[in-house]
Amino acid sequence: MHAHLLDRSVGLKAREDASSPLRIALIFPPAVLPTSPPLGIASLKAWLGAACCGQGLEVRAFDLNLSYFEQAARWLGEGRLRMSLRKTDIETTAREVGEALDFFRGKEGEAFFELDSYNRHAAVYTGFGSVLNGLFDNFARKILHGLPTPALAGKFFDDLLEPVRAFEPDLAGFSILFSQQLHFALALAKLCKGRQNCLDRQTRIAFGGATFSVMPDPGRILSPIPVPVGNERAARVDAGALIDYLFVGEGEKGLEALVKSGLRPGTGIPGLVCKMDGKIVSNPPEAVFDLDSLPVPDFSDTPPGAYHSPVPVLPYLSSRGCPWRRCAFCTHQKTYLHYREEGAGASAARMVELSKSYGAAHFCLVDEMLTPRRLEKISEELVQRSAGLRFSAYARPAGFCPEVFEKAHRAGLRLLMWGVESASPRLLDLMGKGTEPRAVKNILHNADRAGIWNLLFVMFGFPTETEAEWLSTLDFLDSCREAVDALSRSRFILLEGSRVFLDPGRYAIRRIIDRPQRDPVSIAYDYEVAEGLGMDEVSKLFRQSLSRLSGLERSPWFAQLREHMLLYASNEPCARVS
Ligand code: SF4
Repeated sequence: MHAHLLDRSVGLKAREDASSPLRIALIFPPAVLPTSPPLGIASLKAWLGAACCGQGLEVRAFDLNLSYFEQAARWLGEGRLRMSLRKTDIETTAREVGEALDFFRGKEGEAFFELDSYNRHAAVYTGFGSVLNGLFDNFARKILHGLPTPALAGKFFDDLLEPVRAFEPDLAGFSILFSQQLHFALALAKLCKGRQNCLDRQTRIAFGGATFSVMPDPGRILSPIPVPVGNERAARVDAGALIDYLFVGEGEKGLEALVKSGLRPGTGIPGLVCKMDGKIVSNPPEAVFDLDSLPVPDFSDTPPGAYHSPVPVLPYLSSRGCPWRRCAFCTHQKTYLHYREEGAGASAARMVELSKSYGAAHFCLVDEMLTPRRLEKISEELVQRSAGLRFSAYARPAGFCPEVFEKAHRAGLRLLMWGVESASPRLLDLMGKGTEPRAVKNILHNADRAGIWNLLFVMFGFPTETEAEWLSTLDFLDSCREAVDALSRSRFILLEGSRVFLDPGRYAIRRIIDRPQRDPVSIAYDYEVAEGLGMDEVSKLFRQSLSRLSGLERSPWFAQLREHMLLYASNEPCARVS
């Protein structure tokens, strides 16, 4: 259904004064470890700049996630913020966090590649992130409930928001990739909302991003949602009163239409979900079909050199969606409307352009997966341009031959991140993975021989999995240890909208159970199985397996800090094969 909204833009003297540009703030909220700049707001800034060129528009991107970590570290160093990690005292924690940040900002040069030092600083850095996020997520929830917070917390959020307030946006658009950003985004939205700017216009709030696109019912975020605080597990916040526009799907078309309407969506705005007459209505999303027509992402407001990697590492998306789309546990493919690819020549040319603009030689291709053919074509184009870049990519371990790896290595590929999942042929078949363990092993070894590092994603506890199958995966990983550089291990999670969720009987799931304390954007469910390992057994076996898995990787932090892993893999003396 298309939404035809009443004009709710109270106080928005929208575009009456043509000489005053509409100001759009694109915000990436906390809290994700900031090792590279966020791609979503850089892409939207470039799109709005091109699509609304000459229409009186000022767009600025704000990475409040990076600012949050930087500000916290600064406050810690000044003694304004006090926390202690791993049983150390407050002063030691402040010193160690400062040293870790300097280390990751490259202040110790080549020492970054000393693995013992790296691991020590990474432990402090990730620990700092966890403690900080727990503390400020709690403050964010209190702000949402209007409860008192320490003066420090109020000042911290005020300072964080100051650059956005100084910009006086008409629209603050929050890009939310991960569920842990939700409370921060809502609290920041509450502090932004309703503020009058010098033109007597109020700041309106838009939310969008992958988190909402995979929700079967994103409109539920516009109702009172549970935001537990203290002992009040069932406390609710009216998020719909804070969010003026919710977007699902790819953001370009919807945001452009909203901006062109002067933020008055009287006609259908693609991908907009909103409340009308007390009911939630959703406009169908639209996407830019021809990726070659997209402008190059604009990172000028989030300079790549400011992030926590010793040299800049840029994210790049060369295709949208997944060409495979068959894995039964997955909902990633729902983030995008259709699968489509940028021309390989355009991808290579744009990476070179970005490299020159921002002095970045390292790229993480964040496509859902690259097929062998596409990797080969992009590699050929990069070699033709003598690009001299280094890059990583995600892939499904099927159909890759040694020649593709050799060509890709010549083009600068140094890290592949593989969806291996399991070593049981029966389970792989049931998952719809389309891979075969012996072939996977060959592929890993061939990549390794070509000088490409391998990060493996492994999933335990897929429904019907037996203990014997689980152990066969551990044995398989042991048998490929020479070709394994990092492991990301997880347990199966039943996600609403996945094939397993839609056809539970096929996977021997006899009951799907809603979670009483559901995170409002979570699509995870509990379940009971009719055969194979149950949820409790999976948790127990998973804990037992961790020690066996821990010796398999070069660094326990690489699976989380993938930009750092790419830098290690690109540092030639570190490579196993020269
Ligand atoms: S797991 Fe990866 S390869 Fe499989 S459908 Fe999802 S995105 Fe595609």
